[in-house]
Amino acid sequence: MFDLKTIASLGIRRNILLNPGPSTTTDTVKMAQVVPDICPREKEFASMMKELRSDLVKIVHGDLEKYTSVLFCGSGTLNIDVCINSLLPEGKRILIVNNGAYSSRAAEICQYYGLPFLDLKFPENEQPDLSKVEAALKQHPDIALVHTTHHETGTGILNPIREIGALAHKYGAVFTVDTTSSLAMRPIDIEKDNIDFCMASAQKGLMAMTGLSFIIGNRSIIEASAHYPKRSYYCNLFLQYDFFEKTGQMHFTPPVQTIYAARQALNEYFAEGEDAKWARHTRVFNAIHEELDQLGFRDYIQRDLQSGLVVSVLYPDDPNWDFEKIHDYCYQRGFTIYPGKISHTDTFRLCALGAIDAPDIHDFFRVFREALGELHVTTPIIYKEN
Ligand SMILES: *Cc1c(COP(=O)(O)O)cnc(C)c1O
Repeated sequence: MFDLKTIASLGIRRNILLNPGPSTTTDTVKMAQVVPDICPREKEFASMMKELRSDLVKIVHGDLEKYTSVLFCGSGTLNIDVCINSLLPEGKRILIVNNGAYSSRAAEICQYYGLPFLDLKFPENEQPDLSKVEAALKQHPDIALVHTTHHETGTGILNPIREIGALAHKYGAVFTVDTTSSLAMRPIDIEKDNIDFCMASAQKGLMAMTGLSFIIGNRSIIEASAHYPKRSYYCNLFLQYDFFEKTGQMHFTPPVQTIYAARQALNEYFAEGEDAKWARHTRVFNAIHEELDQLGFRDYIQRDLQSGLVVSVLYPDDPNWDFEKIHDYCYQRGFTIYPGKISHTDTFRLCALGAIDAPDIHDFFRVFREALGELHVTTPIIYKEN
């Protein structure tokens, strides 16, 4: 392990990432990757993964008898792929509760696997209508899996997963939730939130490195899925779970150094504490809103529907506005901002992920204001419609 003084002497620049992941990491997490070479098939490595798996379940307050976590090597999309291809019994259908880009990705995954699915679409700036979700479940008794996204990172909207989960369970379906951009930030209780499976990758809420993804969920459902069709060789939930249970190992080579970083990040997560961490993200989010309000920018999503983690900001109606140029100006000064992901509206995003706090946001806005000035963008910001 490196001490903080040694790390400081290396002079690694601290970039402030306001994109929706990967997020800004602590130096101790960065340096946790620098370890003596080790073969991951050694017992030492397996015991680290065992602890890591149960700590991930603890993040969502799961009972360790009932819930487990399964690690994969890959980015967060892999988790959606794995849940969808692994948890659908033969002859059954998937319901996607879709109000954004990440649920659309799940629908595309169904398409690629040729699975029967219902893509229940809602406007991107509205929460799903629960009565329509229920009507779909009633109309299609063959729905065995309901999938949605907790926090639609593309817009910043938060979805009512507890209510959707309750409906899924009422109609006997398994509920999988993409919590990639909420887990380890917004408190989640897997049992109370009616979640059978949730997921994330290490570089978002955990503030660790890219390359490690994990699914947290109900052990008995995974065991039941042993008899479901195997639609992927590399990305099957039961096969990976079974290998872990029998050997303590990932089926194939794990991302070794990334796992060391995740271990360190989990230590830091528990040291900071769930409530304190959420309070910090909230401070960051409020600072973003405060600064945007001062400049006269508008949000795409109504405030009370926002997740508290991502703000989608509407482009001003100003001929001098040039997102690319503003991005480049900020990037050169250590601040990364991100384009939007909304089909019909031009937006950019500012996110409250990562090891940052409110003063970082105020530092960013000093640079952002300079950039607006350089480009002669009028402030307060101009919008054509009131
Ligand atoms: C980041 C993210 C993912 C995963 O995206 P990758 O590019 O595969 O890392 C999935 N779902 C949501 C909601 C996300 O925010």
